[in-house]
Amino acid sequence: MATILDNSVKFVPGVGEVRAKLLEKELGIVTIGDLLSFYPFRYVDRTKIHSIAEITSAMETSLVQVRARITGVAYSGTGRKQRFTAFASDATGSVELTWFRGIKWVEKSVEVGREYIIFGRPTLYRGEVQFAHPELELVERAMSREDRYAMQGIYSSTEKIASTLGAKGFLTIIRNAWNVGKDHITENLPAALLRRYDLISRREALHDIHFPASAEQLKAAERRLKFDEFLGVQLSVQSLRQERLSRRGGFLFPKVGEKFNDFFNHRIPFPLTNAQKRVVKEIRQDCISGYQMNRLLQGDVGSGKTMVALMSMLLAVDNGFQACMMAPTEILARQHFSTITRQTEGLGLHVAILTGSSKAKERRIALEGIASGEVDILIGTHALIEDRVQFSNLGYVVIDEQHRFGVEQRARLWTKNQQPPHILVMTATPIPRTLAMTLYGDLDVSVIDELPPGRQPIRTYHYTDSARLKLWGFLRRQIAAGRQVYVVYPLIKESETMDYKDLEDGFESIVRGFPLPDYRVTVCHGKMKPQDKEESMRQFKDHEADILVATSVIEVGVDVPNATVMVIESAERFGLSQLHQLRGRVGRGGGESFCILMSGEKLSREARQRLQAMCQTTDGFRLSELDMKLRGAGDINGTQQSGMAFDLKIANPTLDAPLLQTAREAAIEILKEDSRLERKEHAGLRELRKRHGGGQRFDFSMIS
Ligand code: ADP
Ligand code: MG
Repeated sequence: MATILDNSVKFVPGVGEVRAKLLEKELGIVTIGDLLSFYPFRYVDRTKIHSIAEITSAMETSLVQVRARITGVAYSGTGRKQRFTAFASDATGSVELTWFRGIKWVEKSVEVGREYIIFGRPTLYRGEVQFAHPELELVERAMSREDRYAMQGIYSSTEKIASTLGAKGFLTIIRNAWNVGKDHITENLPAALLRRYDLISRREALHDIHFPASAEQLKAAERRLKFDEFLGVQLSVQSLRQERLSRRGGFLFPKVGEKFNDFFNHRIPFPLTNAQKRVVKEIRQDCISGYQMNRLLQGDVGSGKTMVALMSMLLAVDNGFQACMMAPTEILARQHFSTITRQTEGLGLHVAILTGSSKAKERRIALEGIASGEVDILIGTHALIEDRVQFSNLGYVVIDEQHRFGVEQRARLWTKNQQPPHILVMTATPIPRTLAMTLYGDLDVSVIDELPPGRQPIRTYHYTDSARLKLWGFLRRQIAAGRQVYVVYPLIKESETMDYKDLEDGFESIVRGFPLPDYRVTVCHGKMKPQDKEESMRQFKDHEADILVATSVIEVGVDVPNATVMVIESAERFGLSQLHQLRGRVGRGGGESFCILMSGEKLSREARQRLQAMCQTTDGFRLSELDMKLRGAGDINGTQQSGMAFDLKIANPTLDAPLLQTAREAAIEILKEDSRLERKEHAGLRELRKRHGGGQRFDFSMIS
């Protein structure tokens, strides 16, 4: 049902055709309703009036108010350089107000001798306070204005919007939009829900989010609007889940059979940690439930996910199914292959590998064995999803390091079967549980929250380039003590020649920096041929090299316990999760370990915070939470690839986790009563689900 809120924003007084076009182009605002759903991103307290003497340089970037009398005006410059200055003072001092544009209009509205509320961002120049383009309002008017709100919303803007409308103009059209639309705002939540969760009405919330009279009012408004967004998402995710559970049968793995038991009782190289045992159990439960499993396994770097993958693949094999494991890089796939082949020797298990660079023979063995059913477990890279790969009976799929795979790739795996296999997605980029619930609400989550025994503490330090000599001294001592060292350079895209040059230069300087002939250096990067890469990794693994100079290709999977030092060059160019992954390469048993973050002297605030966080904690979950706070949840690794296009304007899954939980419960309750939201009183909920529940619907079971 269309209402005034669906009308073009051009009908709002003060907008019109031209500005309407601008609003659409710059901010995506089309209708009056859109404008009302464009919330301030922060607020300034307009009850606070500073005396001029109180203004310090610490306030330079914030909006402040002073109350002062205009004592004189001055003109200077000509033509485009013209400027207009007004001088004002209160009992404590004086300020200069300057305008470079709109001078004609300003000079008319500034009257010498009268008192104004001056609102803007001050700058301090040689102790003098100045305001450029402040807002002015006569004190009498400001005090008597009825739409005076204690807190004023600050809206995000673009340069074009700012120069045509200004902050004040924007507020005016919001206020006008409110007046036009306010009687047409309908409630979308059932009354019982409002009562139950203590939520204010939608109309009240929309008013107070723009024009809050107090911090408490604002909080209640935010809570209500965030709830709407979360509920929309949860209604979508939870209906998908219910659909999946009602629709599809899953393969059954009822037996704990011969291979699993043989492996567990006789061949396993170490006792499982309790967390590993628990996760294996959880997977087994899923695979006898009759439903198809969709499980996300989160475990910090080095927590032993591979062993869980192997044991669960053995379950599949014992029940007559094939399993496959997909890794994001060639190196990692080969490493999994050799580890698993070694660990299962004598078990009568057929394991094959298939990657992009598999030679004809390897390829033939894999393809034929997979099609005939002779191969039990296939390990590989993206090559696994090629059309040529035809399984005879695929029952179980493990995807390692999930964030490297896109939705589309997962979707192609799914087409390999009539019936969807069970899916285990493993990730070392932990997403807080709450976020995982929102993003992958259709997914069950297992966590390995315990590292295997014997892990060594890793000490992390941040040095700038000026400390390089010190670094080299440290590395010499470590190598002399028989340790091995990684030196990693950023290489964001393997094609970027500049990054590539960094690495080569670094490599050379390291060779030069270690003039002693005993130091053996090897190099590994994405531009090398696979067999050269492998040879270089082998040299390092077998301690034929002391230093491995590499790009982030070693990020995942490399396992060399004797390597105890990780040097990350230009560390400011890596994201937090990548830094954490890289650090996870050391501390694997060879003794006390170190991670040295090298950076330039000049760092952005965010980069500094990242490096600081790395020095403070080795807990991947804490880092990932912090990462999201720094970058915003929308940006997190994997979110974009997950294909979930949730529309969250105000709610933040990390910061508002408790409310997300509440919305999830509410959604489950609602769907229990009305699984397809068909009831009349649920029309508003249907609307919410459509609006916030993700345009591109994504069902993980479609791996997906
Ligand atoms: P990730 O979770 O990062 O994939 P891996 O599976 O590569 O971790 O395991 C990291 C290292 O820990 C490997 O060398 C592996 O053999 C070892 N490991 C795994 N589980 C255990 C355990 N329960 N006890 C001792 N070592 C273990
Ligand atoms: Mg791993």
